[in-house]
Amino acid sequence: MAKKLLLINPGNEDKLNAASVGLFFTFPPPSLAYLAALTPPDWDIQIVDENVEPLTFEDADLIGITAMTSNAHRAYEISEQYRQKGIKTVMGGIHASMLHEEAMQFVDSVVIGEAESVWQSLLHDFANNDLKRFYRGERIPLENLVVPRNDLYSNRYRLKASVQTARGCPMDCEFCSVTAFNGRTYRQRPVEEVLDELEGLNCRDVFFSDDNILNYGKKAEQRAIQLFRGMVDRALKKRWVSQVGIDFGNNPKVLKWAKKAGCLGVFIGFESVNEESLEAMHKARNLKLGVRHYKDVIKRIHDHGMGVHGAFICGNDGDRQDIFQRTIEFILDSKIDSATITILTPLPGTRLYARLRSEGRLLVTNYPDDWKHYDTAEAVFRPKYMTPDELEEGVYQIYEHTTSKVTSLKRAFNSFIQTRNLPVTAIAYSLNRGLGSFATSKYQYVKNARSSEIKDSYLSHPATDGENSKAGATQNSPELTTPSAKM
Ligand code: SF4
Repeated sequence: MAKKLLLINPGNEDKLNAASVGLFFTFPPPSLAYLAALTPPDWDIQIVDENVEPLTFEDADLIGITAMTSNAHRAYEISEQYRQKGIKTVMGGIHASMLHEEAMQFVDSVVIGEAESVWQSLLHDFANNDLKRFYRGERIPLENLVVPRNDLYSNRYRLKASVQTARGCPMDCEFCSVTAFNGRTYRQRPVEEVLDELEGLNCRDVFFSDDNILNYGKKAEQRAIQLFRGMVDRALKKRWVSQVGIDFGNNPKVLKWAKKAGCLGVFIGFESVNEESLEAMHKARNLKLGVRHYKDVIKRIHDHGMGVHGAFICGNDGDRQDIFQRTIEFILDSKIDSATITILTPLPGTRLYARLRSEGRLLVTNYPDDWKHYDTAEAVFRPKYMTPDELEEGVYQIYEHTTSKVTSLKRAFNSFIQTRNLPVTAIAYSLNRGLGSFATSKYQYVKNARSSEIKDSYLSHPATDGENSKAGATQNSPELTTPSAKM
C-alpha cells in the first residue's frame, strides 16, 4: 500500500488572512507544490493550506509542514498533535531555516534552506527509519525544475496557480529576509521552461511569485521582454499579477510587453513616503528615484492599462506622528489603486531584528508563542518617535481614511479613468473594501487580545528590554516573503 504524505501550510492564530476576507491576492504557496512534484510515485500526497481550508488532522505516514514566522507557533501545535499519535513530522520553510534549534524542539526533523536538494534523501531516510534531525538544503540552479503540483491545491484560491520565474533579490533592505536567505543572489529560470509551465496550466489567472519579476539592469530588461513576448507569441491568454521593483514603472518597453502578455497589475514596495525612513531601511532603488517621482511611476503603469498595488511600512526610525497623514494623502492623491499598510516587523534572521535587539527595543519576546504577533499588524518593538499603541492606531487610521465604501468607490472610479480597464477597476474596489475589513477585524482582534498582562504593560510603558529569547538570538538569516521550495 502506498505511504501517505500530508503537506501542510498552517494558518495564523487569529484565522484572519486574505482568503477570510475574499481578497483577490490569494494564491497557492509554491513551495509545497515543488516538494510534491519531487516525491516518488509510491507516495499518496495531499496538501492542506489552512488559509483556505480546515485541517482535519487525518492520519498520514509523514507530515511535512512549512511556516513563516507568524504561523510558526501554529506549525508547532500541529506537529505536536501528530507526534502524540506517533506520526513523524518534518518542518521547513523560512522560520525553521532561521531558527532550526527552536523548531527541533517541536518536530522530528528540520530542513534548513531550500528543501528540494534534500527532499528525496529525506524520504529515503524516513523509509529506512533513519530520519536525521537536520537536513541542510542548498540553493539549487533553476534549470530543469520539476513542474510544481499546483493540481494538488484546493480550488479556493482566486489566482489558481503560482509560477516562479526567479528566486531572490540582489538588494539589501534591512527589514527583508529574502536577501539573507538567498545571499543577495538572483537566480532565473530559462524563459522557455517558464513558458512551457504556463502553457501546461489549465487556469487563466496566475500569480508570478517572484520577489521581483523584472530585477535590475539591461539583461533583466531583455529577459523580462523575452518572457512577456513569449507569452504573446504562444497566445497563452493568461491574466497575471506579480511583485516588481519600482524600476518597472520607468521602463516603457517592459510596460508595453507586460500589458500585452496579460498583466492586470503589479505589487510594488514603495515602503514609505518619507525619505528619512527609506534611508533607515536601506531601500536603495526607491531612494535613488526619490519619493517625489512615485506618482510618475504609478501614472506610467496606469497609462499602460495596468493597476498598482502599493506596499507601505510604518514605524521606521524616520517616522514621526505625521507619517500616517502623509501616507493617507499620498494614497489618495497618487490615485494608486490599492495599498497594504504594515507595521515594521523585525523578523528573525534579519539585520533589523539584530539591530532592534541590540538596542533593547524588542517588546514581545516570549518565543515561540509570541511569534504569532510578528505578523506585521502588531507593533512588537518600541518605535522611535511614538508608542506601539500609537503606531497600531495610526496604521488603522490609514485604512479607515482610504477604504470606506464611499472612498473605495471614488478610488475605483479613478482606477477606471486612469487605466480604462474594468477588471483592474473591479479588483481595486474589492481589494480596498477587503483590506479595510481585514484591517478593522485585525485591529479589533489585537485590542481584544490585549487584555493579556504582557501587552497591557508594554503598550503604555515601553520596556527597556523585554528580550528573553534564546532561540531568536542565535539566528542570522532571513525571511522570505514568497517562499520558494522552502518547505
Ligand atoms: S524588500 Fe524587496 S528590494 Fe528589498 S531586499 Fe527585499 S525583495 Fe529585495
